[in-house]
Amino acid sequence: MPEPRIRFDLVSAVPQLMTSFMEHSIVGRARQKGLVDVHVHNLHDYATDRFRHIDDTPYGGGAGMILQCEPVFACIEALKAEREYDEVIYLCPDGELLTQECANQISLQRNVILLAGHYKGIDQRIRDVLVTREISIGDYVLSGGELPAAVVVDCVARLIPGVISDAESLLEDSFMTGLLDAPHYTKPADFRGMVVPEVLRSGDHAKIKTWRHEQALLKTQQRRPDLLDDGASA
Ligand code: SAM
Repeated sequence: MPEPRIRFDLVSAVPQLMTSFMEHSIVGRARQKGLVDVHVHNLHDYATDRFRHIDDTPYGGGAGMILQCEPVFACIEALKAEREYDEVIYLCPDGELLTQECANQISLQRNVILLAGHYKGIDQRIRDVLVTREISIGDYVLSGGELPAAVVVDCVARLIPGVISDAESLLEDSFMTGLLDAPHYTKPADFRGMVVPEVLRSGDHAKIKTWRHEQALLKTQQRRPDLLDDGASA
């Protein structure tokens, strides 16, 4: 087995939400190949009372419970005692928006903690002291950070060399060069009268490349002109 390129430690109040995801598809295969290492930690294991409570009511009143400092500090400090971490990422709606560039940056790191919040949120002191980066997966609110953490692991894992066998296909994906991906077709060539563009069946690789680039550019102009303003490869 090769030495894993990246290790993720997922810290969560509901780790069961992540386990199946981490065992299948790209992430599961990356782990089986030994290229990505994922460890899931249950915050309830770090609770200090016998009922394994990890949340309490907010100071100042109001609805919702807040994830407490004690279990989060205990868990993250225990991990940090074992190895150095490049980043402690808290998944939250008010973080920087997850982009391909952000995923590219994380893929270059070695040890990353992903902290999933729950309830109304987490005690601000955790964010002030332990967290080094805050990431949102979009302008909407989910019930917990488990799905966002899984999203980060997936989009980073597929960038690790060897995880996706056809690395060239990765480079043609949306956002990799600042453009959206071109349309794709597979057999049959004619499905209910909808015919695959002739150029894709021509066998002329130069023409196919040009067609795909034109289509990617067109789609980007139509759907995401902001990407072209950012200096995409036109
Ligand atoms: N009160 C918080 C707010 O308005 O910003 C929302 C808390 S949310 C119900 C509970 C947890 O889900 C958060 O602590 C965070 O970990 C996660 N979460 C929710 N939406 C998210 C998003 N868009 N991106 C990343 N994490 C999110």
